[in-house]
Amino acid sequence: MSLDIYMPGLNEQFPNRVMLHMDSEGRTSMQPDITVFPVRCSKCHRILPHFYLHRGSSNNYVGNIRCRFCGHDISVSDREYMVDRIYFDEDEIDFACLYLLDWIYIDAIDTIYDGAASKVVLKDYTRSALNYITVDDLTRRIANAISKQLTGNMSFVTDPRFPKLPADINRWIELLYVAGIQLPSNVRIVREAPVLPSMEGSAISDFRSMDSLMARFPAKRKFPFENSEDPYGFGGSFEKVINESASHTDDFIISEDDYDPDDIADIED
Ligand SMILES: [Zn+2]
Repeated sequence: MSLDIYMPGLNEQFPNRVMLHMDSEGRTSMQPDITVFPVRCSKCHRILPHFYLHRGSSNNYVGNIRCRFCGHDISVSDREYMVDRIYFDEDEIDFACLYLLDWIYIDAIDTIYDGAASKVVLKDYTRSALNYITVDDLTRRIANAISKQLTGNMSFVTDPRFPKLPADINRWIELLYVAGIQLPSNVRIVREAPVLPSMEGSAISDFRSMDSLMARFPAKRKFPFENSEDPYGFGGSFEKVINESASHTDDFIISEDDYDPDDIADIED
């Protein structure tokens, strides 16, 4: 049992995933098995400035994290053998709701796309085995099956208590969004995708105009050649390049200013 601070690129061998299950009457369900999640202090209710990585539990105990804001020692626990819920002391987080990992969304896509989603998700399903699939594989298979291109640059909030979701979860929700299904009314888009020339003809550029987008993403830095018409030679503006790179970097940690490697010492097994 233990908790680590999640390091993008270094912890990818422990991806968020779901387990697929089909009952004897052919009804399918999926249960999240989550490794990467934000932590909210059960006492001061602030979000800690990293995602955390679930590395296993013993008797449902995952680990303790000291809140950097109020000093409270947060006890993190799960239940049974699947991490479909996590507890910060008594506060329960249900990942089917927070991460929108529920078979109802596959059914909703199937309704629009003539069964295309469940067909590719259940392609390798075998009754005699545990059927796990990573969230990214789920996203990739369905996006291909319904011919939707994703940007990977959109961010969503599904619960106001958690302002940041892991990158793979944002990609999953972007898929639900571009597929055009009805999302729960509490879901908010916090960053719209930059439209790059390579995205022309994709679902994103169909309903976004560059003008409104650029107003939302002012360039953060000034460079001597910022007035150049086409500095990178691909026909796009300089602002597009800046905004693209800026939006990638802040995906990884909740705030770069808050990032402090010394926090690793806060974790106790
Ligand atoms: Zn606290």
